[in-house]
Amino acid sequence: MFIKNISIPFTYKNNSNISDSNINNRIFYDKKLATDTVSFKGNKELSDVEKYERAIDIVDCFSKKQIQNMDDFDQKHLEGIQYGLKTFEDLSFPQIYFLLSNMGEISVPVVRDCSGMCPACNVNGRPKERNTDAISRMDFEDFKNFTDDIKEISRRLNFDCAAKSLEKLINDTKEYGYYTMPSSALFYDSDGKDIWLKDENGKIHEFPELNKMLYEATGIKGIFDTAGWAPRNTIVQTRMEKLVNYYSKPENQKEIDQINISLNPYHGIMEKANEYKNKGDITSYTRMKKTYINNIVNAMYTCTPLVDSDCYQILIKAADSTQDNRFKDYDQDVCINLLKEIIKTLFDRYLQDVQEGNYKYAKNFEEAQMLASKQVAKCSTLLINLTPSAKNNIFSTIKDNYSYVKNKPKASFNDVMQTKLNNLLVDVNGEVYINNDHELFKTDICLNFKNKNKKTKQLYPLPNKRILNTKDKTFN
Ligand code: SF4
Repeated sequence: MFIKNISIPFTYKNNSNISDSNINNRIFYDKKLATDTVSFKGNKELSDVEKYERAIDIVDCFSKKQIQNMDDFDQKHLEGIQYGLKTFEDLSFPQIYFLLSNMGEISVPVVRDCSGMCPACNVNGRPKERNTDAISRMDFEDFKNFTDDIKEISRRLNFDCAAKSLEKLINDTKEYGYYTMPSSALFYDSDGKDIWLKDENGKIHEFPELNKMLYEATGIKGIFDTAGWAPRNTIVQTRMEKLVNYYSKPENQKEIDQINISLNPYHGIMEKANEYKNKGDITSYTRMKKTYINNIVNAMYTCTPLVDSDCYQILIKAADSTQDNRFKDYDQDVCINLLKEIIKTLFDRYLQDVQEGNYKYAKNFEEAQMLASKQVAKCSTLLINLTPSAKNNIFSTIKDNYSYVKNKPKASFNDVMQTKLNNLLVDVNGEVYINNDHELFKTDICLNFKNKNKKTKQLYPLPNKRILNTKDKTFN
């Protein structure tokens, strides 16, 4: 049966010879639909154009509200609606629907290199690999086509990705006792400061523009994360100043959910500093720690125009060392002391504005004090996200995938999709994955990207051997 529990929105005259009992067949007697199960012409293979026209006709028959219940349809009747959309070529409609309806948390990492070298990075962010043919940056035209195609197919379907994602997230998170808004990220194992793409004419497109493209396609706000950068890196400094300026304008804030500075006592630079400390080389320890503090202070200072915006925050991550002394270099006390040094240095930086008379942000002592306190207020989130076991998992994740499925070898497609909080991940070559903090599942979806046949950097956690087949909703 094609239609399940859906009322027909079009009206017909009372004296019409179309009755309620045969109204469903009204669709199939339409000339463009005549090759379906009930047909005067008999079944024949439809051309792509005919399938497209049929799908558009079907969508036209339903109001916007009802089309959002697309789960109630037999989706094969919308096959063809993707006609002419480049990145969806070779995908079936159920695969495209899977993409559209799982965008509540989506990562489209346009770059997959990171120089952070954090030992506890759960996605193993690492610098650009040399001597490899694996790509680690998305092609700009692929990214543009992807966002254009989402926009176009949503228009054809009257489909609101953001509304669907919100509904799904609310359902998914109910049992966890918290609620989260849909969000998108242009990073996965990379730092936001390195987000840019070059088009075929050599023009560079940076985070605000790329994020806007994804936002306009999905209606889902973006997240930006950085662990800081060296102030002497003028390219990154300029890029970040432009970004802050863009999001400090109220009219652009609808596009962004969070701009986060991550303060991690286990950042690669701090890890190096700790190595020196443990060897008793206090001079090198102090130098490295100062480097880290200066990077974070510079990032916070650069973000000053955002201190009054809800989207801006400083995420501090600490481990629990009460159960395992190995985490003493990453615990709350370390974080608090580090934060005290950071705030003092930041305050001095604002004061410097006053003393040097450039008045960039602070015009007097009181303003310097006020800005520093506002920044402290932004640091109120202390995330204890590393427990000894979690940390063990993180280290072992990289070698040996912690696996939900390993413990549930008979897990089904629905188990994976419904019992976990999942993120949709689109790799730089168009391959699509589902992941959470501990696991990564490859799907049968590969977008028709220019780079679809290229290898990419290894993703972490290592993908599970079983593949999610979104075409027929199986997990093999
Ligand atoms: S900066 Fe972020 S992505 Fe990069 S290594 Fe550190 S935690 Fe991983």
